[in-house]
Amino acid sequence: MSIQKKGIQISMAAAGRLLVGFVLFYAIIAAGFSIVFLRKIENDARYTQEQQLPLVLSQNRNAIKVERLASLARSIYLAKDRELERQLQLQTHVLAQSFTLDENDELAKGVQDVGAHVKKIVAIREQIRRMDAGSGIGPDPAIRAELEKQALETYQNAMRTTDKLSQAIISDAAVLAYGMSGDIQRTAKMIQIAWVIILTLPVVTAVGAIYVVARHIISPINSAIEGLQSIDRHEKRAFKLRRPLFRELSTIYEAIEAYGRVSSDLLRTNSILQALSEEDGLTTLANRRSFEKRLGDEFTNALQRGTDLAILMVDLDHFKSINDQYGHQMGDTCLKMTANVLRSVCADRECHAARYGGEEFSIVFPDCDLDNAIIEAEKIRLSLSSLIIKTSYDKVVRITASVGVATIKSAKFETSAQLLENADRALYLAKHSGRNIVKSLPSSGRTDLKSITA
Ligand code: GH3
Ligand code: MG
Ligand code: MG
Repeated sequence: MSIQKKGIQISMAAAGRLLVGFVLFYAIIAAGFSIVFLRKIENDARYTQEQQLPLVLSQNRNAIKVERLASLARSIYLAKDRELERQLQLQTHVLAQSFTLDENDELAKGVQDVGAHVKKIVAIREQIRRMDAGSGIGPDPAIRAELEKQALETYQNAMRTTDKLSQAIISDAAVLAYGMSGDIQRTAKMIQIAWVIILTLPVVTAVGAIYVVARHIISPINSAIEGLQSIDRHEKRAFKLRRPLFRELSTIYEAIEAYGRVSSDLLRTNSILQALSEEDGLTTLANRRSFEKRLGDEFTNALQRGTDLAILMVDLDHFKSINDQYGHQMGDTCLKMTANVLRSVCADRECHAARYGGEEFSIVFPDCDLDNAIIEAEKIRLSLSSLIIKTSYDKVVRITASVGVATIKSAKFETSAQLLENADRALYLAKHSGRNIVKSLPSSGRTDLKSITA
């Protein structure tokens, strides 16, 4: 497992502090904005209440008063009674005076005009009444009609003026109301935008935080778990880890990498130790322990399949005298050459050779009956006896070997140990028969063994 070396890194604690700082900063900004907006709403409401609302109310009052003025003018025109006219004229005068307090000059002037028209109507009516009460001749109908006409026109002028005033007041009020609603709308829009921004930012931050957690925490942890699993499965292919953003995870990665290295070193050492524990150091053939295990396995297989199995025990003759005569090293050379002969046999056909101990070797031939085993044993014996081994001072050393052969079916053995013992006894027989010879025990089996041993 390996970790990429490039890429920026920060500590998870620093990232956490940064996030908390950002949230606090954001909360302060959001609170500040909220206070500013609430202040603006409050100021706008106060301004509307103190400035604009009284204006709207005063316009409303003026509209009612103008309406009342029009109604008084209408009543005066229709009254035709001197006392009533005077009362109405007085009311009109008082009403018109109330407008003089108003700041609206145009309105005050209009109202004064209506007052003047009313006064004129009253004067015309007074003139007609004087004519009616005159010399007793009666009024001139033409003059009277002319005066009535003037009164009507004056009344109509008064009505037109009040209509204009009403319209002006209504449109002023509408403009005011429109202005007020526009202000409210603008403020509402601003608050809406501000809150959209205030609410959107946490969502964006949350999405960003989720992305960072998924990409830079969860995914690297999953990769680390995969790395550990790959180490546990002893996978050969190199498992690459992308350098994580957070330093803490990098430390975990490095620990996993170290674990992977130690694990593969251990694995390699174990396999070397395993091989060494199964191998003979001098000849590199299988040692006795692994041979006996192999023999046990092959024995079980043969029993299950109903096939035969042969075992050969090969012991070098008078080996001690070779050691004595040519030295221990020469003895070692003879052992290695013997091992090479056995190895070459197993290269040609299926068999397993081992150094059983000292100058004694063994070979297992699966699926091999006694006749074939004897043939193989003869070949080995001849090969060994034809070896020409030279010493450092060019002296030729010759070796011979005695071979004991046994097969499962030759005596119906129940365990591999019995088979091995039988081959050993056959070897013993070969030694007793003069050496450099292949021997097997008679098929009557183990009972005969005792007589041979004795
Ligand atoms: P026999 O024909 O009856 O088998 O006689 P032998 O001399 O071969 O048998 P013996 O058991 O008397 O001697 C075996 C000798 O093998 C004794 C020992 O020094 C020698 N030997 C055992 N292991 C090694 C080894 O690894 N290297 C060498 N050079 N000699 C060994
Ligand atoms: Mg020997
Ligand atoms: Mg021996």
